[in-house]
Amino acid sequence: MTDDTMPGWTVERLHNGWGQALEESEVLYDNETDHQRLRVFTNPRFGRVLTLDGVVQTTEADNFIYHEMLTHVPILAHGAARRVLIIGGGDGGMAREVLRHHGIAHVTMVEIDAGVVEFSKQYLPMLSAGAFGDPRLTLVIDDGAAFMKTTEDKFDVIIVDSTDPIGPGEVLFTDTFYGHAKRALTPGGILVTQNGVPFMQGDELTNTLRAFKALFSDWGCYLATVPTYAGGPMAFGWGTDGDGRSVDVDTLRQRYTAAGLETDYYTPAVHKGAFALPGYVERLMP
Ligand code: SAM
Repeated sequence: MTDDTMPGWTVERLHNGWGQALEESEVLYDNETDHQRLRVFTNPRFGRVLTLDGVVQTTEADNFIYHEMLTHVPILAHGAARRVLIIGGGDGGMAREVLRHHGIAHVTMVEIDAGVVEFSKQYLPMLSAGAFGDPRLTLVIDDGAAFMKTTEDKFDVIIVDSTDPIGPGEVLFTDTFYGHAKRALTPGGILVTQNGVPFMQGDELTNTLRAFKALFSDWGCYLATVPTYAGGPMAFGWGTDGDGRSVDVDTLRQRYTAAGLETDYYTPAVHKGAFALPGYVERLMP
């Protein structure tokens, strides 16, 4: 939220005792929806910045890291994904990256806040880059937990691109939700989740992986560092009953080349390396 002590700057206070300040060159949008407070401002270093309830969600400059790693890792590991589910993802960046895979026949995106979608189309068009107009995309405005509970559809990859477990995102970090997600996976399907910065939010990762450990034969997390998700590398939860994690780097390279991808963070070697965890993250494993 804007900070009296730093006029013209927004200070994110997601973590106790730690803040992240971003200069606001220009505030483009600031409004409350039924679910959360939406703000977009421009910053000299990160370009356009989206915050929800005062927490950085994504920025023009560094969103590629997060969106590439939460899409290409499960999709290239799976090798034959055709149906993908995105929970959250209202800014459209996740859909953009998923839809770059020509083999993907259909993407369902379940976003609770229509305001995020509409306003992202207008103020952050570079994030969705036309994804909302792709005929393969079905946008559902609903609580992702309610959708997961009732859907009869099956998906090869499920991506949880939610806010943090505060406010509307809280229900997406529960054992119940994960159990419903597992039920909606096809054989060999992969569930991946936005799971915060373990140096700052270690208990959230441990809680998610405790549920994954009970649900999946292969569970764990992988890492990538996103500058505006402050506090060190971010963790992505990984759960599957398939063998996607064991795909070797040469096979990943073949799939990456065949997909015709040009990425700025993801590489097959980074994919494999991302699962190597430092000690302090290893110690968070349930
Ligand atoms: N990259 C961001 C991060 O790592 O925190 C997430 C970005 S995306 C904007 C997060 C989206 O999750 C928002 O559009 C928010 O409205 C949506 N969301 C939060 N809770 C939800 C729920 N229960 N069901 C569906 N979407 C939800």
